[in-house]
Amino acid sequence: MEQLIQFSYYGAALLFILGLKRMSSPKTARGGIVWAGIGMVVATVATFFLPDMHNYVLMLIAIVVGSMVAWISGKRVAMTDMPQMVALYNGMGGGSAGAIGAVALFSAAAATGVATGTCELGSHDCLNTTSATLAVAGALIGTVSFSGSLVAFAKLQGWMDKQFIFPGQHIVNLLLFVALLALGGYAVYELNTTAIVAFFVLALLVGVLMTLPIGGADMPVVISLYNALTGLAVGFEGFVLQNEAMIIAGTVVGAAGTMLTQLMAKAMNRSLGNVLFGNFGATAAAGTAVEGSMKEIEAPDAAVMMAYAESVVIVPGYGLAVAQAQHKIWELTQKLKERGVKVRFAIHPVAGRMPGHMNVLLAEAGVPYDLIEDLEDINPAFKNTDVALVIGANDVVNPVAKTDPSSPIYGMPILDVEEAKNVIVIKRGRGTGFAGIENALFFADNTKMLFGDGSEAANWLVQEIKHL
Ligand code: NDP
Repeated sequence: MEQLIQFSYYGAALLFILGLKRMSSPKTARGGIVWAGIGMVVATVATFFLPDMHNYVLMLIAIVVGSMVAWISGKRVAMTDMPQMVALYNGMGGGSAGAIGAVALFSAAAATGVATGTCELGSHDCLNTTSATLAVAGALIGTVSFSGSLVAFAKLQGWMDKQFIFPGQHIVNLLLFVALLALGGYAVYELNTTAIVAFFVLALLVGVLMTLPIGGADMPVVISLYNALTGLAVGFEGFVLQNEAMIIAGTVVGAAGTMLTQLMAKAMNRSLGNVLFGNFGATAAAGTAVEGSMKEIEAPDAAVMMAYAESVVIVPGYGLAVAQAQHKIWELTQKLKERGVKVRFAIHPVAGRMPGHMNVLLAEAGVPYDLIEDLEDINPAFKNTDVALVIGANDVVNPVAKTDPSSPIYGMPILDVEEAKNVIVIKRGRGTGFAGIENALFFADNTKMLFGDGSEAANWLVQEIKHL
């Protein structure tokens, strides 16, 4: 039986890796999620057959309640609320790793009182120094990630101020972090119950305080970082439990999360240190003063402009997700293509509110992948583009990122939409984007504003083009 369980764990780990691999392309991503899900089922079922497993009823209740909550919330959540959902689920992963660490530490403290060299790795009632260190490391990372992710969730959900800053915040955080490490070290050395409790309370506090000052456009990087940390914590706790599936899955999530964090930080031209300690976005409300005025355009004129263009580049952003305009925009694309217009989509890596947000929406509407271009590939093409249609995008097309060092988004690579011959912007009004600043593009001479909900405005354009 033991061998069958090990075999199942390796099988589950293989499914996680293959599932993740499939997630690297929108074509195979859906299948990848199913593969990884099957891996999770295999690992969960195998766990029931572990030799000294007990508490079956509690395990089943947890699985049933967890599955129901996940199923209902997964079905109900709007695409626009997905980042909150990711933050919340990620927090649950970190919390689970923290809880495993807590059980390992508290049971060992109750049974032996000290970390002992004679204890075997994976033992249930005692810890040797290696496993106690790994349990503390996993618990620290997992618990910080848990409370940090909950704060990120509250901010994205609009339940909390985007920034919470007080003087000397970084020094306080640094001191608390050093105290946390010291307490962790003491907990490993002594396995003292009071020290372990204090360690967890402090870890929760550090997670909250670390995340409080982060806001503005840095939130996606932070969520991705917590995701990587959760993976690492699960991997450490996997060592403590000697559970291969946890070790491999945790390492894979840690590695993938780290790469995603780096990619996102690069996409926003931010260093990780700057994200965590730079109070980015604190100046967002002030923003840049922009000169000029917005010029409106009506749908019939915008439709003519696009229908008689040679090339059109569509730039979707968060507003496309809010309006669920992906289907209408694909209909518009088809109408334009029927007329011989060359249409492409330009996707900024942080457009929307989660990595790959726009790709997912466009794929859902059936937009072929060969029409979709990344920032590096499309940017040189804007100057030869007749019409750039910006729909619900704001920060990712704001040229002040290139020109104003005082702007909170300064240095973030953006789509060079302003270089197109004509720009049409669909948005509901004069609302700002995620970073909360004015957009110089909207005031440029070659830009016309088509005010309206994304889906309705795209529909106006479709109807107008039909009659041309
Ligand atoms: P923004 O959030 O900058 O702007 C969205 C715009 O859409 C707003 O200006 C709004 O203007 C408009 N809008 C909202 N609802 C509608 C609607 N129904 N119809 C038409 N327009 C609408 O979006 P971007 O995609 O340009 O930028 C993403 C921002 O989010 C970046 O700052 C990024 O850093 C951040 N971010 C990204 C994450 C990611 O992983 N991708 C995660 C978290 C944050 P109006 O109100 O006038 O309509």
